[in-house]
Amino acid sequence: EATRRKKPDWLRVKLPVGKEYAKVRKLVDQHKLHTICESGNCPNMGECWGAGTATFMILGNVCTRSCSFCAVATGRPPEYDEDEPRRVAEAIQLMGVKHAVLTSVNRDELKDKGAEIWYQTVVKTKELSPSTTIETLIPDVKSNWDALYRMISGGQEVVSHNMETVGSLYRRVRPQAKYDRSLEQIKLTKEYGKRTKTGIMLGLGETKEEVYKAMDDLAANGCDILTLGQYLQPTKMHIEVAEFIHPDLFDHYREEGLKRGLKYVESGPLVRSSYHAERHVNV
Ligand code: SF4
Ligand code: SF4
Repeated sequence: EATRRKKPDWLRVKLPVGKEYAKVRKLVDQHKLHTICESGNCPNMGECWGAGTATFMILGNVCTRSCSFCAVATGRPPEYDEDEPRRVAEAIQLMGVKHAVLTSVNRDELKDKGAEIWYQTVVKTKELSPSTTIETLIPDVKSNWDALYRMISGGQEVVSHNMETVGSLYRRVRPQAKYDRSLEQIKLTKEYGKRTKTGIMLGLGETKEEVYKAMDDLAANGCDILTLGQYLQPTKMHIEVAEFIHPDLFDHYREEGLKRGLKYVESGPLVRSSYHAERHVNV
């Protein structure tokens, strides 16, 4: 069974330790924040939190969707907290974060898809930390383009929306999403004038041709930045790893992506959409 197999050496990482890590830990707890680093059990927590970076998850920690790779709880979320933008912005200020990554659960039940809280969080963060750059990793707005434009108009430098996988695996991996709809969301984000980014997880059973196709589609729809990383199963309840992709193949995909017209490709076993995110601001 794939998941019980020993992870290859290139996926071993250092445990989170150190002063900076402890500082981030404390602030996250004190401000009652949710981080995707923790809920996703991300292998880079030692590195990122040690460098003072974390990815904050807004709009609560219960999601209306049930993507098969994701460790965030599914259900009907409680009322959102209107004070959240302030708490997030203050934590970012206290942490002295130079580049903040914000993401959220999907709030399909909300008319505005959470756009107003998104907008307020970005604006408040810029107000308290004017020199901090921001990447917003936004959810699928289900073609509610007014919600999209509100979400991306707070002054953030990068807008990402993760495709997560190739088209043929959507039903198994991202059942409430649509490949073409996510592509269109990226296209409209670009047309609005934002720097665009997406992430795809590898090792879910996709073929090379399907990865190339996704790269072509992304380039054609105005995506600037692509991250490619190894999918790791967060718990036994989640979709199994089909394959551990060799680092050489990740290198090959980086070259291919650039050849196919993407401006920047971050590709490696431990790459997550928020990994090295500060490098994507000037792409
Ligand atoms: Fe958090 Fe992203 Fe770093 Fe993982 S890669 S620890 S999710 S900021
Ligand atoms: Fe997880 Fe996002 Fe899917 Fe919700 S929409 S289950 S948070 S990946």
